[in-house]
Amino acid sequence: MSTDFSATRAAFDLPEGIIYLDGNSLGPLPRAAAARVERAVTGEWGRMLVTGWNKAGWMDQPSKIGNRIATLIGAEPDSVVMGDTLSIKVYQALASALEMNPTRRVILSDTGNFPSDLYMAEGLCRTLGSGYTLKTVAPEDIAAHIDETVAVTLITEVDYRTGRKHDMAALTARAHAAGALTVWDLAHSAGAFPVYLADCRADFAVGCTYKYLNSGPGGPAFIYVAPRHADTARPALSGWLGHESPFAFDTTYRPGTGIERMRVGTPPVLQMAALEASLDIWDSVSLNDLRTASLALTDRFIAGVEAACPTLTLATPRDHAARGSQVSFRHPEGYAIMQALIARGLIGDFRAPDILRFGFTPLFIGAPEVDAAVAVLAEVMDKSLWDQPQFKTRARVT
Ligand SMILES: *Cc1c(COP(=O)(O)O)cnc(C)c1O
Repeated sequence: MSTDFSATRAAFDLPEGIIYLDGNSLGPLPRAAAARVERAVTGEWGRMLVTGWNKAGWMDQPSKIGNRIATLIGAEPDSVVMGDTLSIKVYQALASALEMNPTRRVILSDTGNFPSDLYMAEGLCRTLGSGYTLKTVAPEDIAAHIDETVAVTLITEVDYRTGRKHDMAALTARAHAAGALTVWDLAHSAGAFPVYLADCRADFAVGCTYKYLNSGPGGPAFIYVAPRHADTARPALSGWLGHESPFAFDTTYRPGTGIERMRVGTPPVLQMAALEASLDIWDSVSLNDLRTASLALTDRFIAGVEAACPTLTLATPRDHAARGSQVSFRHPEGYAIMQALIARGLIGDFRAPDILRFGFTPLFIGAPEVDAAVAVLAEVMDKSLWDQPQFKTRARVT
């Protein structure tokens, strides 16, 4: 059965008069989320107090929701668990992978990776000392640099600035052939298009839920460990809820069974309630339909903007196989242009130094919004409406 995108759109509470092309940064509010969170707050926390950990199933939520996320990223059952933030999960996955490849010292990543991933890798290398290094190369050169010195690759599948998508299957095969492990960051993949972690034989993966998966600001991250590694990977961040028996209150750490060991501390119960409401919408979505719709939207936007705005330079690959679910254009005045668009109800975002970024999310964006967005952008560019002082002062979040 094909996906009914008018039904998914009706499931979101979007403000009137806004064209929201930033669901790749913060997904919008699912209508059911407010009631679901209200139930968790007053019905569960309020009435059950501490007994909610058992009665409301709070303690099982991270692995139950992990299994729902697994279906969206091509992962095996019981291979995904929720918790912490993406930056923390990057650190945890990297530390585990490095330990599994103890004769090697290099983490290989690319310069298009999101800075937090690189910072976490750098920090981990410093803590480990003894020759551990982070090596970053241009995104197009990464395959050529996977050699027998590399312990683990840390690759974000989709570049947050350009929307360029790496070939996960090919790079994973290449890493394995060289004896390296892989950590894939799915921040701009999960909920953006089908992902095939198991088929690609990925070793570790991490991702966040507040972008395409619409869990709301501060929603928890997830971590995937391939089942073949799950009982050998040491979790590195060895918190009590990843212990084999947390309520034995043993003074020595013993990792839990399988993916459970990647849990650290108390999970964010209220955020996970919001995430559950969002995942109910995802239950009705075919990821192949999503990809078809997403490519149609991004093609339409590229064609429209290129026809109407000759001073903007496309930064996103035209090749479908190399494109995520966003479109970016470069312009030296990108920040001011984006502020002028937002002032007119078209919300995207700006990424330094010169990227105007627009996310395409078929769950709530269709062709009419794309055409309206092109018209707003064309007017702002034609009339230089961005060229005003109030659009040039940078806010804390861009
Ligand atoms: C959004 C994003 C992050 C953010 O990490 P948090 O810890 O959730 O703030 C990290 N890495 C990538 C690749 C991202 O796109």
